[in-house]
Amino acid sequence: MSKVLVVVETDGNAIKSASLPGITAGAQLAQQGGGELHLLVVGAGVGDAANAIGQAGYGAAGVHVADHADLAPFTTEAWTDVVVGAAKALGATALGGTATSTLRDVIPRAAALLDAPLASEVTAVTGSNAFRREMSAGRAVADFTASGSVVCFTARASDFEPATPADAAPVAAVDAGTPNKRGAEVVSIEKTQSARPALTEANVVVAGGRGMGSGENFKPLEELTDLLGGALGASRAATDAGMVPADLQVGQTGKVVAPNLYFAVAISGAIQHLAGMKGSKTIVAINKDPEAPIFQVADYGLVAKWEDTLPQLIEAVKAKKG
Ligand SMILES: Cc1cc2nc3c(=O)[nH]c(=O)nc-3n(C[C@H](O)[C@H](O)[C@H](O)COP(=O)(O)OP(=O)(O)OC[C@H]3O[C@@H](n4cnc5c(N)ncnc54)[C@H](O)[C@@H]3O)c2cc1C
Repeated sequence: MSKVLVVVETDGNAIKSASLPGITAGAQLAQQGGGELHLLVVGAGVGDAANAIGQAGYGAAGVHVADHADLAPFTTEAWTDVVVGAAKALGATALGGTATSTLRDVIPRAAALLDAPLASEVTAVTGSNAFRREMSAGRAVADFTASGSVVCFTARASDFEPATPADAAPVAAVDAGTPNKRGAEVVSIEKTQSARPALTEANVVVAGGRGMGSGENFKPLEELTDLLGGALGASRAATDAGMVPADLQVGQTGKVVAPNLYFAVAISGAIQHLAGMKGSKTIVAINKDPEAPIFQVADYGLVAKWEDTLPQLIEAVKAKKG
């Protein structure tokens, strides 16, 4: 029987919502293989979070906890050790999770250590160890089957619904061995100070592109973002030009987002940008060029200059909010 082990990340005492699509992918894989879903909680002092995850269950047969002081702050070296150790101890036939920046780092290393095939950034589970993924930034789609005694995967967040709570699952410590940081030390962590929600977790994302012209011109976008309680995003051309910080970049080499509402303002819609946002539920594009490719994926498109439309849009939202 297959045993799918999904690594979940925690934030304080709770699961990170970014981990929920990976659980769904794991559940689909378990179902296709006629097996069980198991969750692995990794970190230092994650007992309360693991218990909360066990209460929510998410359809898992068990929640396993690898808790060790050396697992926080995160280092790839230490995490990979315990993820591999847990996969071996539990006899996992598949190992993976959401393609977050953490698991994009850990799962390929775990696959190498387990001598396992890696199905990265999959967009669908199509059968037992069978997956779909995009190639060349979405120009081609590949359906393939991974074979091996263990198969590793990462799932693209925007393509799987977040897992929802179900029956409670038993929580137990797993003997995943002792992590070894191999000399890696986190010297300092500088968190971005923002009252806005994280880009990957926001319900609304307002993104600007090179056509905004300057960082100063992002101010109306920020105003709209805050009126809608959303997160600010940008194209790579805008971040490369220094208009806004690099961590706002959405796309193939930036963050992958799937909000309910995505505004693409003065963004052309290059395939590498679409790779990071086309899973959004509703896409609104504002662009002065009627031929801009962004209009091919937009649900609502406005051919106009942002200078003319953003002030009106902001006033309309303000009026609506009273
Ligand atoms: C390997 C690789 C990885 C990449 N990864 C990413 C990635 O992760 N994310 C990403 O975004 N890009 C990525 N890119 C870059 C990508 O190919 C594009 O160059 C980039 O997305 C273009 O950004 P843009 O749409 O803001 O700029 P442009 O293509 O220059 O488009 C600007 C748009 O603004 C419009 N515009 C101009 N003025 C106005 C105005 N006043 N009002 C309204 N509209 C206006 C124009 O009509 C145009 O459509 C990657 C490229 C490569 C090769």
